[in-house]
Amino acid sequence: MAGSEVTTHDPAGGSAGFAGQHVTVAGLGVSGISAARALAGLGARVTVVDGGDGDKQRAAARELEAAGIAVRLGDGATLPEGTDLVVTSPGWKPDSPLFAAAAAAGVDVVGDVEIAWRLRETVTGAPPAAWLAVTGTNGKTTTVRMLASILEAEGLHTTAVGNIGTPIIDVVLGQGKDGARPYDVLAVELSSYQLHWAPSLRAHSAAVLNLAPDHLDWHGSMAAYAADKGRIYEGNTVACVYNVADQATEDLVREADVEEGCRAIGFTLGAPAPSQLGVVEGLLVDRAFVADRQKQAQELAEVADIAPGSGTPAPHNIANALAAAALARAYGVGPAAVRDGLRAFHPEAHRIQHIADLAGVTYIDDSKATNTHAAEASLAAYPHIVWIAGGLAKGATFDELVQKSAARLRGVVLIGADRALIREALARHAPDVPVVDLDRTDTGAMSEAVREATRLAEPGDTVLLAPACASMDMFVNYNKRGEAFADAVGELTARDH
Ligand code: ADP
Repeated sequence: MAGSEVTTHDPAGGSAGFAGQHVTVAGLGVSGISAARALAGLGARVTVVDGGDGDKQRAAARELEAAGIAVRLGDGATLPEGTDLVVTSPGWKPDSPLFAAAAAAGVDVVGDVEIAWRLRETVTGAPPAAWLAVTGTNGKTTTVRMLASILEAEGLHTTAVGNIGTPIIDVVLGQGKDGARPYDVLAVELSSYQLHWAPSLRAHSAAVLNLAPDHLDWHGSMAAYAADKGRIYEGNTVACVYNVADQATEDLVREADVEEGCRAIGFTLGAPAPSQLGVVEGLLVDRAFVADRQKQAQELAEVADIAPGSGTPAPHNIANALAAAALARAYGVGPAAVRDGLRAFHPEAHRIQHIADLAGVTYIDDSKATNTHAAEASLAAYPHIVWIAGGLAKGATFDELVQKSAARLRGVVLIGADRALIREALARHAPDVPVVDLDRTDTGAMSEAVREATRLAEPGDTVLLAPACASMDMFVNYNKRGEAFADAVGELTARDH
C-alpha cells in the first residue's frame, strides 16, 4: 500500500473495494493527483494519463512515480490495458476518446466526488458525516460557506468542501486522523461536472440555487446541463431545496427519485408560503421547519444579519442565505445558529466586494461575475451604475442582460477581447447610455477603465466591475482581474488625497 496513511475500520479492509483494482486516473491536475494518491494508498494499482507533456506535468509525474504510481504523459486518449475503473477530472469532456474507449470495454467512469462518497463509510469507525449539498449556476461557494458558518454556530464540526478548497477525497480520508474529531456534517459544493460523474451520491438534503445557460460546450445542451444539476436531489432523505423564482429548479425536484418522506422546500425573496423560507419585513422567516406550517412561522434572522459590515446584502445573497438556512434547518439546526452563522460569515473576495467610497461614489469588485446570469444579479443590486464589463464571452449573448439592466446604467466602460458583443447589445437596447470602449488589453487597461468610470460617475453612483465574461484574455484569472480593479481604485485614492 504505497504511501498509505489511511486508518480504516470496515471489514473489507477500508478500501471500499479499490484494493487490487487497476484504476486509470484521467488528468494530472489537483483533483487527479489527489485521487491517484488516495487510491494508491488504498491498495489500487493506479495509472495517471494526461494528454499534456510539459515541464509542469513532468514534475508532477516524477512525484507520483516516486510514490509508486504509474504516469503516462502525451496520450490522454488510449485506455491502459487491464483498467477496471476510470476516475476523471472536471476539465475532461464527456465525449473524450478515453471515455468512449472505457465504454467500449465496459469500464465505469466516475469523478472524485463519487470516490469520496464511496469512501466515506470506511475511514473512521463512526457513522459517516451527512452531506448537505449545493449546486446552481451561481452562488454555490457563497452558499456553502454560509451553510458551514451556520452549522459551526450550532456547535457542529463541519467544513465547506467540494468544488472549493481541499479536494473532497482528501477531506473524507483525513477524517478523524491524528485524533481529530470526525466531521458531523459536510457543506458540499458540487459543480455540474462533478454531479455528472457521481452516480451513487445520496445527500441528506440538497439545493439547486438557480439554473441559467453555462458550460454548454461541456454538457452539449441545456437539457443535459439541467439533468446533471438535478442529480443532486437523487436519493435525498430530508429536503430538496429549490428556488421559487426559478421554475426549472422546482421541476428538477419533481423529477427526482427521493427517499420516502423527503420534502420539497422552497426559498423566496417574498413572503413564504407553507413549506418555504422567505422574507417578511426585513426578516428571514421559516415556514417549513415548524410544527404547524399552515399557521406558524419562525423568525430566523434579520436581513441585516447577513455578513454585517459588508453593506446592505444584494438580493441574490439574501437568496443564498435562505438556501443555506433551509439546508441547516433540514439538518435540525436551531434558529439562533442561523442568525449567528450569517453574522459570522464573511464574503470571499471578488464577490460584490466593497473596495472604497470616494467622492460619494462606491466602488464594487464583482470580478467573479464571469457569466451574464451572475452579472445580472449584481447589476440588479444597485440603482445607478457605471458598469465595467467585457472579457471572454464563452459563446454568451448580452441582449437580455442589457435590456434588463439598461435603466440602471449611468455609463459603461468596456474592456477585453469580446467587448464588441456587449457594445452592440448596448447600441440595440440602451442607445442613450454613454459607452467608453477601451481598445487595449495590456495590464494598464484596468487603470484607464477605472479612471473613465470615475469620470462618468455622479455622487451616489456605484462603479461596478461585473464583467459578465471570463478574464483569461487579459488576466491569469478573475482574482487577478479583481486585484487590478482594487489597485486602480487605490491609485485614484492616492491621487485624490
Ligand atoms: P459559484 O461558486 O457558483 O461560482 P459564487 O458564490 O462564487 O458562486 O458567486 C459567483 C458570482 O455569482 C458572484 O460574483 C455573484 O455575482 C453571482 N451570484 C452569487 N449568488 C448568486 C445567485 N444566487 N444568483 C445569481 N448570481 C449570483
